[in-house]
Amino acid sequence: MTDLDISLGAELEQLRAEGRFRPLVVLDSPQDAEVVIEGRRLINLSSNNYLGLNTHPRLKEAAIEAVRVWGAGSGAVRTIAGTQSIHEELETRLAQFKGTAAALTLQSGYTANLAVLGGVLGEQDAVVSDALNHASIIDGIRLTKAGRYLYPHSDLDGLEQKLEEARRDGRRRVLVVTDGVFSMDGDIALLPAIVERAEAAGAAVMVDDAHASGVLGRAGRGSVDHFGLEGRVAIQVGTLSKAVGVLGGYAAGSQELRDALIHLGRPFLFSTSHPPAVVAACLAALQVMEDEPNLLERLWENTHYFKSGLQRLGFDCGNSETPITPVIVGEARAAMALSDELRNRGVFAQGIGFPTVARDRGRVRTIVTSSHTRDQLDRALDAFADAAAALSLDLAPRGDGSGSA
Ligand SMILES: *Cc1c(COP(=O)(O)O)cnc(C)c1O
Repeated sequence: MTDLDISLGAELEQLRAEGRFRPLVVLDSPQDAEVVIEGRRLINLSSNNYLGLNTHPRLKEAAIEAVRVWGAGSGAVRTIAGTQSIHEELETRLAQFKGTAAALTLQSGYTANLAVLGGVLGEQDAVVSDALNHASIIDGIRLTKAGRYLYPHSDLDGLEQKLEEARRDGRRRVLVVTDGVFSMDGDIALLPAIVERAEAAGAAVMVDDAHASGVLGRAGRGSVDHFGLEGRVAIQVGTLSKAVGVLGGYAAGSQELRDALIHLGRPFLFSTSHPPAVVAACLAALQVMEDEPNLLERLWENTHYFKSGLQRLGFDCGNSETPITPVIVGEARAAMALSDELRNRGVFAQGIGFPTVARDRGRVRTIVTSSHTRDQLDRALDAFADAAAALSLDLAPRGDGSGSA
């Protein structure tokens, strides 16, 4: 046996030197409000399982039943092996959910962005993108030959300038792309203003609602529903791995968009589709979201409670408006130290540093779910207070607890 004939020692050393080398955390339990790590039960503030659907009995039953009826795998890519009717049923359901004519599912939210951005734009076109858009949008943009125009985060004047530049450059079709909810800060895109600016410039809008679906809008329909912008956003990308609790991605829009992606979206063409169990669990999830509106209500109650608790303790939670609440502490090293101290005190919340966020904006990112109890949230807040004291963090506590959320 020979060793791998490339050496990655220098790269790994660099990561260690910057305090960015992190072993994977191994869970011996489902992703739930609490998780088991190294034999200890910890309160879980790290998952995107907003509505607790990941462990919902109806999803588990639907997945088991689908294996019995449809088998374990889907055979091959859909253009070659044919497509199972359950896949089409999910797409019809997603189009209804998003209020669009059609939808197409992909293996993940990541591949959905690659399929759309890599598939629908040509060399004469332009993509205008928020600087803090998710990595999958950035990678999708790398796959397109269209001109690329980046505007500063949520900066409407910057957006207008880029639209003007694209026009001057004689671009044929222009697509403005934004996250619906930004994944590191939990702020909501200024979608009504973005849509207005785009419409004025004759551009189309695409929103990636990975963190907004199941969270914003009626029954969790997402940011377009939240702002009443039906019919004015050409492409809605989403994931089935966050609030929906399973796995997968989709692009919802016109029938033309769906037809084009089936022929031009490379992840659709060259990678096999979901196993039927995944599809069935997603269908069950969409039904549960409709049947159990209390899940969404509890998610927001917990969000307000936890966010105002953190702010009362004096933590800097940035501009968060959603269940994603960052606790911003500075350098990556400080974020990792806070995460470790929290772990010692029974809370699982990951530290995030440069290059995922700016160098001085390292943070512990927290996400509450509808499954967390008041008691769990109180214990988590106590752990934050104790960890901050242990690290002598500089906090600015608020006496009256009038934290906005
Ligand atoms: C998580 C996320 C994705 C990726 O979704 P997966 O289904 O996990 O691949 C895409 N876009 C945004 C904005 C995300 O937050």
